[in-house]
Amino acid sequence: MATITQKSIEIDVVVCDGGNEFKLKGEINEDLLIEELIYHKSDLIKVNFKEVVMINSCGVSEWIKFVEAVSNIGSKIQYFNCPQIIVQQVNMVTGFVPGNGSIETFYAPYFCDDCENEDKILLKSSDLKGRTAPELKCTKCGELSEIDAMEDIYLNFIPE
Ligand SMILES: [Zn+2]
Repeated sequence: MATITQKSIEIDVVVCDGGNEFKLKGEINEDLLIEELIYHKSDLIKVNFKEVVMINSCGVSEWIKFVEAVSNIGSKIQYFNCPQIIVQQVNMVTGFVPGNGSIETFYAPYFCDDCENEDKILLKSSDLKGRTAPELKCTKCGELSEIDAMEDIYLNFIPE
């Protein structure tokens, strides 16, 4: 395992089945130095976004440069545990997910009308049928909880 420590972000690089997993922690912004990330390239790159707390437009363009560079040399890229701030970029920004990339798992905001409990639920893209979020049980009261976002927009990256 290696740890890349930069100004705003720390990245643990862990060997996983088929390649390397990058565990990001912190902020993706103009301080991101992609050369260090490219150095740890592998056939498969799993990116774990769980602990990314902020991403800005400079960070987005650096990130796109990184995924383009590794895609161009044949890496396959999978995104895991994408928080809402990453899902928004995925849906808004062309190239944030490269052509040979995929979103495997992501968080969706859920809201229960009965007890007003808010949940962040980890969903698996392959479990979804089109752009429809599953109805789930509220983790607090057990009543029905529904996605708290426009499904068509939030799940835009899911093939129809
Ligand atoms: Zn509830």
